[in-house]
Amino acid sequence: MKEGVTEFKTTCPFCGTAHELASSVVEPGEEPALPGDGHVTLCVRCGEWAIYASDAPGGLRKPNDEEYSMLADDPRVRAIRKAWAETIGRVTEKKVAER
Ligand SMILES: [Zn+2]
Repeated sequence: MKEGVTEFKTTCPFCGTAHELASSVVEPGEEPALPGDGHVTLCVRCGEWAIYASDAPGGLRKPNDEEYSMLADDPRVRAIRKAWAETIGRVTEKKVAER
């Protein structure tokens, strides 16, 4: 298993994709973190942000308004979302266009 990648089963609250792994994004010098309640994750399938919540169905919930504001203000979050849009998001758009 790669460093920073852990088995962690969740279901995206937006697209319903079942995920089996989670990887952490940390600053240089920081230890990879295990997913925990309140942590933010990006669904690699649909590109939506979700919040880990052990009491939510599938272990994830949609962010509330305050969390969306926090996400919008964080340059790291914008960079991750941009990277997703320029890689996986393009592949997803192409597959949709080919249908
Ligand atoms: Zn999703």
